[in-house]
Amino acid sequence: MHEHRFAVDAMLGRLATWLRLLGYDTFYEPHIDDRVLVELAQAEGRIILTRDVQLTKRRGVRALLIASGNVWDQLRQVVRAFSLVRRPRGRRCPRCNAVLTPLAREAAAGRVPAYVWQTQDAFHECPACRRVFWRGTHIADMEARLAKVFDEE
Ligand SMILES: [Zn+2]
Repeated sequence: MHEHRFAVDAMLGRLATWLRLLGYDTFYEPHIDDRVLVELAQAEGRIILTRDVQLTKRRGVRALLIASGNVWDQLRQVVRAFSLVRRPRGRRCPRCNAVLTPLAREAAAGRVPAYVWQTQDAFHECPACRRVFWRGTHIADMEARLAKVFDEE
């Protein structure tokens, strides 16, 4: 399957976070110049997601104009436009875009709150920023929201 890669404009930071959590390689830099964003997208074969109609008119640019200001509508639009699936190749760090790697439970000791270490079995680590991730209590709410985006009832 062809795996889409994205470059997200400065207005769409929350959308970038969710695409990374789904596992999609997503470039996001809040202070990047439009011209640099276009050059990067072309060089790396990325689809630009933007709320700026001018950006979608640049020659040689593959872009999707994001219609809504609501992050869930935005995510739904991107999922449908490119037939995205959940977790094509594992989650990515919402901050760095790096693919998370499994972390042994023993190795997580001392790096997460004690109650988390005692109650969780599976941990992942970002190889770039070294943050440790686990399936926390927020996951149920997150999964429910994603189920709506992907029309899984
Ligand atoms: Zn990271």
